[in-house]
Amino acid sequence: MQDTFKHKGMRRQLINELREKGIENEQILEAFDAIPRHFFLDLVFEQQAYSNQAFQIGAGQTISHPYTVAFQTHLLELKKGEKVLEIGTGSGFQTCILCKLGAKVFSIERQRELFLKAKKIIEHFNFNPRLVYGDGYAGLPLLAPFDKVLVTCGAPEVPAALIDQLKEGGIMVIPVGEGKDQVMLKIKKLPDGEVDIQQYGVFSFVPMLENKVK
Ligand code: SAH
Repeated sequence: MQDTFKHKGMRRQLINELREKGIENEQILEAFDAIPRHFFLDLVFEQQAYSNQAFQIGAGQTISHPYTVAFQTHLLELKKGEKVLEIGTGSGFQTCILCKLGAKVFSIERQRELFLKAKKIIEHFNFNPRLVYGDGYAGLPLLAPFDKVLVTCGAPEVPAALIDQLKEGGIMVIPVGEGKDQVMLKIKKLPDGEVDIQQYGVFSFVPMLENKVK
């Protein structure tokens, strides 16, 4: 896969669009500049890879809109070296953005086809995330706790196991809601086991499915 001047130019335009939509964090924008999104898409989508759209990535799943990736990443308040659990590796694009920002990433995918595909693409980069084939509802208890948890599929409710695996003071970003629309939640785990929940608008994700590892 090649990353040409044309791709780089289209990427700059996307970054301007993200900036206009309110993404101001320069590190996040730099990560978008560094990770060629077209690497994660089928060749037929190459020319559209830098438009703010979701595309089919196989197994009936989609890569998230660039704005959604940027916005969820912004809500995470990521610091270098933090341990992040991602649920829904999908194409692997968001995984690479988190790696580029210096996170230690653990990512779970329940579709074997996508797990294998993402693994191969991520090998192009010098990142070393831990990719796991499994059910994100269970999280990764043996590798917990995590500073941050990022769910990139629409969850019918907040999985208790994922709250358990969050550090005190940690943040989980999760779109919650059944059907087509989800409300983006930022959940902060407070010292006494309580949580603080804030809402950040309506988004549309593929569903988070339970006990159906394929
Ligand atoms: N971050 C990805 C988003 C892909 S869409 C990207 O930008 O490409 C969401 C992904 O979540 C899909 O690949 C879907 O298979 C996966 N998913 C759904 N339910 C899951 C579960 N219970 N455990 C792990 N992954 C799940």
